[in-house]
This record gives sequence, C-alpha cells and structure tokens, in this order.
Amino acid sequence: CGIVGAVAQRDVLPILIDGLRRLEYRGYDSCGVAFHHDRRLLRARCVERVAKLQDDITCLGAPAYAGIAHTRWATHGKPIAENAHPHFSPNADVPRIALSHNGIIENHETLRTMLERYGYVFSSQTDSEVIAHLIDHLYDGDLFEAVREAVGQLEGSYAIAVLCRDEPHRLVGARDGMPLVVGVGEGEHCLASDAIALSNVTDRIVYLENGDVVDVQLYRHWIVDAEGHRVERPVHTVALHG
Ligand code: GLU
Repeated sequence: CGIVGAVAQRDVLPILIDGLRRLEYRGYDSCGVAFHHDRRLLRARCVERVAKLQDDITCLGAPAYAGIAHTRWATHGKPIAENAHPHFSPNADVPRIALSHNGIIENHETLRTMLERYGYVFSSQTDSEVIAHLIDHLYDGDLFEAVREAVGQLEGSYAIAVLCRDEPHRLVGARDGMPLVVGVGEGEHCLASDAIALSNVTDRIVYLENGDVVDVQLYRHWIVDAEGHRVERPVHTVALHG
C-alpha cells in the first residue's frame, strides 16, 4: 500500500516513521521497517499501528543511515506479522536483501518453484517474497544490476524499494504499474510511493516512469529506463502539506 525509503547522513528512522504516518490515511493492515545497523540489516514488523512500530524500533538500537519501510494492504497471504514487509533474503537470520513491495506479482508461483529449486526457503505466503529471493539469487556485488535483472522477470505490478547488507549507502527502487517517486534532499535522497510521505524532508520530487529502475545514494540518483538507457527525469518542486 505504501513505501518509504531513505539514505542520509542523519538517522533515517524518523524520516521513515514520519513518512508512514503521512501514508496512514490510505489504510493498511500491517507495517514494517528494515535498516542498516552495524553491518547488518535489522527489521521490525507489526500488525498494529505505525506508533507501535515506532516503539519497537526504539528498542532495536538505532540510528540508521539507510532504510526502507512499508504499509501493507494484503493481497496474497493473511495480514499477520510473518507476511508484513520488508521481506528478507536469503533468510531472516542472515539477511542480505531487504525489500518492500506494493502491487501484485502475477507469476509468483512460477518464480517460487524456481527459487525453491535453488534452495530458497520461504517464510511468508506473500507474492512479494519471491522478489527478495530473486534479487538475492541474481546478486553479484551490484544491487542496482541485480534489481534490473530481477524486474525483467516479473509479471504484474510493482513499486519496490530494496536494501543490500553489503552496500550500506545505497537504496534501489523500481516501478511498473504502481507509483514511486524520488525525493531529492541536501546530501540525502528518499523514495516514496507518494510525495506526501516526504513533505517533512524535501519538496523536490522526481516522478519515476513505468519500467524505471533508480539507484539512490547520498548525493545522486541515477535512473535507467525500461530500454536500459540512462535517463534524466525532471525535478519538480511540489507544494508542501506541512
Ligand atoms: N501483494 C503484496 C502483499 O500482499 C503487497 C501488497 C501491498 O501493496 O501492500 O503483501
């Protein structure tokens, strides 16, 4: 239902939580956040309100300089904590990839069968978890390339935000059929499913187009379109809603 992500030189957890709160009006059944901390990916997920998630995060021992968050409106799998995003891969104990997804993956059963054959163990009933494992499977030291390859195998609709344990200052996003924007800050960048989620951070917004994959770092964002060409998208100044 909603996605927020951020890479910054300050603690991103307040950005993520504030973003989720601004998306709450859309409704959701569960929420979660994953972030880099001390060369590891940590995660909190719950079937309660964002306020509860905030309490849980405080216990985990932030700060974090890169992270992703999600509000879920379940389409595949019940609204329980195990199905809440972000999803981890290869598994919850030693995660290398963390992923938030909005949308529906139509070919998730085919991909699941393939990934199980490669040894991936699924810990949710969602269609989204296949994307996390697919990216991990394709990962060869470059998260951007792994995401680009992975989305080429997806059928359906998606907006995703992805972190990799081994690339702590990077966030990768992609969209097709679901909205995703980049928020351009001063030495920091965000991703969100709606610019309103970032209204406390920046009013400079880039609207991604279908098929775009974006590499998000502190000082730059880099977009490649569906044909694999590097593209510049205009930066819009949007009205802040406070
Ligand atoms: N299809 C995914 C799920 O059921 C994502 C739902 C959403 O967009 O929130 O987990």
